[in-house]
Amino acid sequence: MVLANAYHLYLRPGDMMVRALGGLHAFTRWNGPMLTDSGGFQVFSLARLRTVGEEGIEFRSHIDGSLHQYTPESVMRIERNIGADVIMQLDELIQGQSDVAAARSAMERSLRWLRRCAVEFDRISEEGREPIPPLATPVGAPALMYDIVAPAQALLPIVQGGTHADLRRASIAGILDSGDWIGVAIGGLSVGETKADTYAMLEVCDPEIPRTVPRYLMGVGFPDDLIEGVRRGMDLFDCVAPTRMGRDGTAFTPDGKLQIRQSSHRTDLRPLVEGCGCPCCAQYDRAYLRHLFASDEMLGKRLLALHNVTFLIDLMRDARVALQKGTFDAWSSQWLARYRAG
Ligand SMILES: [Zn+2]
Repeated sequence: MVLANAYHLYLRPGDMMVRALGGLHAFTRWNGPMLTDSGGFQVFSLARLRTVGEEGIEFRSHIDGSLHQYTPESVMRIERNIGADVIMQLDELIQGQSDVAAARSAMERSLRWLRRCAVEFDRISEEGREPIPPLATPVGAPALMYDIVAPAQALLPIVQGGTHADLRRASIAGILDSGDWIGVAIGGLSVGETKADTYAMLEVCDPEIPRTVPRYLMGVGFPDDLIEGVRRGMDLFDCVAPTRMGRDGTAFTPDGKLQIRQSSHRTDLRPLVEGCGCPCCAQYDRAYLRHLFASDEMLGKRLLALHNVTFLIDLMRDARVALQKGTFDAWSSQWLARYRAG
């Protein structure tokens, strides 16, 4: 599944423009599943001068300072225009170690916003999306696709509650009470709290969510974080780590992280990871990759990003096989021991 950011697409080129150009799948030529986050995380991390109230969030664009308002309803319209398969509710984010009062207030508001998202989501399903203003296209260009009915999409709720077990349980109870969801996301983790706190919260959430519902742990992570998440009942993950680390010259390997810029790789003719089938490892050796980084060539950044994404996909495939064979506990302990020893 490919994740796109509603905040970025809303500001540039605009959600209506993405839809006018055929929707996210046609626009990006990706026929696999796609997800958009609500943009809430980017508003909290990138936008300037944001004001949060019961109605929604007012903020200034990080690009040109223009003023915008996100409400649960407007975010649903934006995400339905963009057209990903899975779309996320707008929620209120807080710092990782917020006190119980702040965490409770944001969790309860996120539940109220979820209900407003669901009402608007259903309205769009019934009434279709708002009309798109006609776009001027050059003579001879392919016709733009204008659709009338909203595409099939699933709305996912997000569990909040900071690092407070009671709030996490209350959040899940409120979510299960307010709809029949095809998946449940867990948000507000991996935002500055300790790993022990993250794991403790996953252990609180795991038994509260029905076994039949996929659990999506947002913003996580690194290879060992994925394995620790799967051990605690998580199914889906997303993170910038594989591509961001790759651009920075860091490759994931079964023996931990490898920094390709190190001089020890200068005459190393081995691939990053023996047996890896990614476009990087199938063709290039460490000496050449190190040279690309030393020369600041774009190709090196792309190859390491491709390797890291492939590494995580392969890792999850191996985890699924181990789960199906009933050997996951032993397999994952062994995997983590080797990764952490590296
Ligand atoms: Zn590779």
